[in-house]
Amino acid sequence: MTLDVAWALDWVRRSAATVTENRDELVELDRLIGDGDHGENLARGFRAVLGRLDALTEPPAQVGDVLRLVATTLMSTVGGAAGPLYGTAYLRASKATATDALDSGGVVAMLEAALDGVVTRGKAGPGEKTMVDAWTPAVAAAVEAADHGAPPSEVLAAAARAAHEGAEATVSLVATKGRASYLGERSVGHLDPGARSSELILVAAAQSAAA
Ligand code: ADP
Ligand code: MG
Ligand code: MG
Repeated sequence: MTLDVAWALDWVRRSAATVTENRDELVELDRLIGDGDHGENLARGFRAVLGRLDALTEPPAQVGDVLRLVATTLMSTVGGAAGPLYGTAYLRASKATATDALDSGGVVAMLEAALDGVVTRGKAGPGEKTMVDAWTPAVAAAVEAADHGAPPSEVLAAAARAAHEGAEATVSLVATKGRASYLGERSVGHLDPGARSSELILVAAAQSAAA
């Protein structure tokens, strides 16, 4: 079993849908420890992605072509911290997926590249209360699932579950990167908005693979 361009397109559409559905929650989370724009930033970005997808005259040939469209669109339409971070994540992921279908190893390589992009761009490590705290356990769980011979859909399901746990675990962390770090200890008790949106995007990937 492999994941093809149709999967990638479905993932992008589901990501847009879930970010839009959860826009208000993301706004509220960011209002509590940031400036309250994360939900709107991402909703606007993914709206633009859908617009560009609909405007394509030819369907993308490779998974990486879909992810590159997402990367360039988010970079040019989402401001703040999340635009460049997600943009770099999708750009790295697109370079790791220059193929028409992903097996489990390909899914792992894609997720590793995305995390690598976030870390290269934002210089945050695990435990700093950022999206890295969703992506790091997601990648670890994906690696473990693939090592145990899981098919791509199960690799993504494991990554999504771990991203959920990782996002929930940001509640007890002190923010030391991004806007939330201005609050120091007062950031404790709140879930990081970028970790939540990362979870939503990974859950969408798993749902597309299971569909
Ligand atoms: P801004 O903070 O500029 O308003 P957003 O609200 O869209 O941007 O995004 C905030 C999210 O970005 C945070 O919740 C956090 O997950 C993520 N973030 C901020 N700085 C970093 C960083 N240096 N590394 C990784 N993620 C970061
Ligand atoms: Mg913000
Ligand atoms: Mg902002």
